[in-house]
Amino acid sequence: MDIKEQIELIKRSIPSRVKLIAVSKTHPVEIILQAYKSGHKVFGENKVQELVQKHEFMPKDIEWHLIGHLQTNKVKYVVPFVSLIHSVDSKKLLQVIDSEANKLNKVINCLLQVKIAREESKFGMDYKELVSILNDGVGNFKNIRICGLMGMATFTNDDSIIRDEFKRCKQLFKEVKDNYFSNTPYFKEISMGMSDDYLIAIEEGSTMVRIGSKIFGYRNYNI
Ligand SMILES: *Cc1c(COP(=O)(O)O)cnc(C)c1O
Repeated sequence: MDIKEQIELIKRSIPSRVKLIAVSKTHPVEIILQAYKSGHKVFGENKVQELVQKHEFMPKDIEWHLIGHLQTNKVKYVVPFVSLIHSVDSKKLLQVIDSEANKLNKVINCLLQVKIAREESKFGMDYKELVSILNDGVGNFKNIRICGLMGMATFTNDDSIIRDEFKRCKQLFKEVKDNYFSNTPYFKEISMGMSDDYLIAIEEGSTMVRIGSKIFGYRNYNI
C-alpha cells in the first residue's frame, strides 16, 4: 500500500474542516517518515513511551496527538511537546496535567473522553462522571484548554449502532458546550471516527478523525 496515496485518498474524501490524525502506533519511524515526506504532519500515538521515542527521532514540526490512555505518572513526559491529549478521563488526570504544564509555563490542549459505546470499555467517562467533573470547575484550570470531546464507537459491522453512538457524542458535545463552554470559542472539537467508521463520524459532526490501518496497513503488535 502506498502511504502517500492513501493519505491523499482520505483527504479527498473528508471536508477540509475535518482534521486527519494519522495514527502511526506500532509502525516504525521509517514508515512514518514516508507519510511525513508526502506533506502530512499530524500524527497520533496511543502509548506514551512510543510517542516520546518517535517525537525524539522525527522532525520537530510534527503535531503529535496522544489518543490512548494516559497514566498520571507519565504526564510529565508528554507535556513538553504534545499538541492535543484526546484521552482525558478523570479529574485527577486534569489536575496532574495542569500542574506539570504550569511548571513549564505551558497551556495543554485536551479533549474529554466520553463513553459512547454500548460495549463495556475501560476508558472514557459516562454522562454522570462528565457532569460531575465539569461541575467541579475543571474548565477553569489555568494551564489546560479543554477543546472538546473524544468518543469511540462500538466495534461492530452494524452501521446503525455506530451512527447512534456518534449522534450521542455530538449531542453530549452540544450539551456540554451550552452548559459549560458557551463563551469558549476553542471548545469546538469532536474527535470521533477511525478507519472503518470515519465517514459516518463526519456525517454526524466529527471535526477530527483518527485513522491508522487505512493509511499504514495492518498492525503487528508482536514486533
Ligand atoms: C488505534 C486507534 C485508532 C486508529 O484505529 P484504525 O482502526 O487503525 O484506524 C483510533 N483511535 C484510537 C484511540 C486508537 O487507539
